[in-house]
Amino acid sequence: MATWRCVKQCGACCHLDPAERPDLDEYLSFEELQLYLSMVGQDGWCVNFDRDSRECRIYADRPRFCRVLPDVFEELYGVESPELNDFAIECCRQQIEGVYGDRSLEMIRFDREVGI
Ligand code: SF4
Ligand code: SF4
Repeated sequence: MATWRCVKQCGACCHLDPAERPDLDEYLSFEELQLYLSMVGQDGWCVNFDRDSRECRIYADRPRFCRVLPDVFEELYGVESPELNDFAIECCRQQIEGVYGDRSLEMIRFDREVGI
């Protein structure tokens, strides 16, 4: 069975362009939405994302909506723990496809590392 994990050197979910996430206000509170929008750089990437290392500069202090954790996913998306694995894999694949493409090295690496 495929098992979700965050693959290093990806960062696709740190591409925050709101035009690609029209339903943000359905799952973020007003305060979180303001925070989210304040993090969007001119190129659509999060201002905290280091494009060279592809790592988060504020990882330990990143906002709740950046964390793939059972309680966060249940609160934000109504996804309960047994479904979290498949939901997280699907979220990552959608994000990677949108940012890098469905035949990108990032997608190949993700699929291989999670066991698809
Ligand atoms: S899209 Fe998924 S694999 Fe890529 S950085 Fe985000 S959580 Fe990790
Ligand atoms: S705060 Fe960090 S984890 Fe969250 S979107 Fe920005 S770079 Fe990515």
